[in-house]
Amino acid sequence: MTPFERPDRCCPKCEHKGYLFRARKNVEVPEGKFVETKYRCRSCAHEWWERVPAPPEKKADDAA
Ligand SMILES: [Zn+2]
Repeated sequence: MTPFERPDRCCPKCEHKGYLFRARKNVEVPEGKFVETKYRCRSCAHEWWERVPAPPEKKADDAA
């Protein structure tokens, strides 16, 4: 099993490993559904969005 998110996420600008969580939103594009998370670097204050595929919606209800 491989996790979705890399544990070694770092700033795309300065590669600093410290970051702050800023926001999260769901996006829907022709390619599918994604979750975008905004981070802010603690070193250079650079902010960036990271997009990952949204987890598939599981229907717990019994669909007859
Ligand atoms: Zn940075």
